[in-house]
Parts: sequence; C-alpha cells; structure tokens
Amino acid sequence: YSTGIVETVLSTPLPHRQDQFQRRMDIEFYLRRAIDNQEFHLAYQPVVDVYTNQIVGLESLIRWNNATLGHVPPSDFIPIAEECGLIHEIGEWVLKEACMQNKRWQEAGLSKVFVAVNLSRRQFNDSRLSRMIQTILEKTGLHPKYLELEITESMSMEVELAADALRQLKKLGVRVAMDDFGTGYSSLGYLRDFPIDKLKIDQSFIKGLIQSQVNAVIVNTMVTMARNLNLLVVAEGVETEEELQVLRECGCRLVQGYYFSQPVMAKRIEEMLHLETKQTG
Ligand code: C2E
Ligand code: MG
Ligand code: MG
Ligand code: MG
Repeated sequence: YSTGIVETVLSTPLPHRQDQFQRRMDIEFYLRRAIDNQEFHLAYQPVVDVYTNQIVGLESLIRWNNATLGHVPPSDFIPIAEECGLIHEIGEWVLKEACMQNKRWQEAGLSKVFVAVNLSRRQFNDSRLSRMIQTILEKTGLHPKYLELEITESMSMEVELAADALRQLKKLGVRVAMDDFGTGYSSLGYLRDFPIDKLKIDQSFIKGLIQSQVNAVIVNTMVTMARNLNLLVVAEGVETEEELQVLRECGCRLVQGYYFSQPVMAKRIEEMLHLETKQTG
C-alpha cells in the first residue's frame, strides 16, 4: 500500500499526526454504521460515444454523507474500508445497488446502457467474488453484458491468481475494464497476461493532452494499441472541447468527463436517458 496509514502519518510533521490519526479513527467508526444508516448512495457518470453523441454506459461512484463528518470522498474512506475489511460489505452494497438501478432503468423502457462498478483490491482478491456477482445478477435480473467491472493494476497479487480471478469473472459474461490505464508500473504486462475487455486511459494523460505533445503521442499510441488488440478504449477526465477534438482525431470513440457531465444522482441520469430514448426510440 503506497497510501497506508503508517506511511502517511510518518511522513507528516508531528503536530499534524494526531489529527490524521483522529480523522482515520473517526472515519472507521462512522463507516461501520454507514450501510445500516443508509448513508451511502451512488453517483453515476455518463460514458459517451462521440460518434453518435449517445450515452452508452454509466460509471457508478460511491458517495458517503455522514451527519457528523459531512461528505467524505471515496479517496478518503475506500482505503480505510480496505484496511479494516469493511470493503467487502460496502463493495457488495455497491454492486447490488448499481445492478438493481440499471435493471430498473431498463424495465422503465429507457435506452439500455452498461453500468460500471469499481472493484477494490481486497474484493478482487476475494475468492467468493464471482459467486457473489453471479447471485446479484440472478437476483436483480440484469443481463451480465450490462455490467462492467473496473480493476486497477495496483490490485494484483500474483499473476496466476489474478488471471484466474479474471477468468472466473469473464465466465459470468461481464466485461472487465482496466482503470487508470498507463499509470502503473506494468500496464503492458497486464495487457499481455490478463483477459481484459477495455482500457480506461487515465485522466492524467488527458489533462496534459493540449499542453504536451508527449501526452498526445502516448494517448494516440494507447488508442491504436487498443484497436489492434481488439479492446475497447475510453478516455477519462475529458474536460474541454479541445481535448475532445484531439481524442476524436486519435480515433478514441468513448469518452467520460466533466465536459459531458459530472457524476450525478440517479434521478438526473434518468432524465438524460429519457431524452435519449425519445430521440432514438
Ligand atoms: P476512478 O474510478 O478512476 O473514477 C474517476 C474519478 O474521476 C471520480 O472521482 C470522478 O468523479 C472523477 N472525474 C470524472 N470526470 C472528471 C473530470 O473531467 N475531471 C476531473 N478532475 N475528475 C473527473 P471520485 O468519484 O472522487 O472517485 C475517486 C476514486 O475512488 C475512483 O477513481 C475509484 O478508484 C474510487 N471509487 C469511487 N467509487 C468507488 C466504489 O464504489 N468502489 C471502489 N472500490 N472504489 C470507488
Ligand atoms: Mg473507475
Ligand atoms: Mg480512473
Ligand atoms: Mg482512479
């Protein structure tokens, strides 16, 4: 863990250390009750096909609002949930909620889109994961092709174990996406060893797209490589028209970012899907 609490705290000047410990304790304390208290909800961010201008998918992103702590971002509490083991429960809640919601939208007759769920390291390493997902798909009735699982490079342990875990997931018929692609140490090794369906180009490459030719070349190369490997590819963190233009020129068809929409509540997604359904249907 590069973000382990011990490293974080030890690299912090002494007067701030106590605060950090306190904050961590607070988060853990309230996190234990958060599911029962219904303090979580999912925000969804559209994934857009730039050729058709249609929403093709939605990434689910967890939100936590606690009466005492206020809004706590996932980057603050997911690592803690991982460390104290609560991630299994939280992760299961996210999967259920995302599948249930997507199925509800489909049943309401809205255009069918996939929902993407972020998996954390401990979930991915849990041998019960694929059975749990299978059960959720059965119970919600969501067709597996409308569920995408996002994993990151930092999640893997042993190559063989991870490859096995991925094969089990793929057998369910769900898609697997490599999140934050290009930021880890062995991105290419991953592509070689794992049955991935999609690359999500990390937003750091998109941010620098206009300023630096290096980023543009890297993005172009990633898109070409994905195409040659028969993988889907999506650019994350697209914020401006200029970035979108460069991505179009690269042949990157799927994009996600503030330019189109921030992650929003389910209600708002429903309105967006409704508009699309009217246009196409
Ligand atoms: P991620 O999966 O890479 O998600 C993308 C993050 O970038 C989200 O932050 C999203 O709000 C943000 N983002 C999207 N478009 C833009 C843009 O145009 N510009 C900028 N600057 N940011 C953009 P968020 O929601 O705070 O989530 C942060 C991370 O927390 C996620 O990164 C993911 O790793 C983790 N996370 C979120 N929800 C879950 C969850 O349900 N389970 C697990 N295990 N992890 C989650
Ligand atoms: Mg993600
Ligand atoms: Mg990402
Ligand atoms: Mg990320």
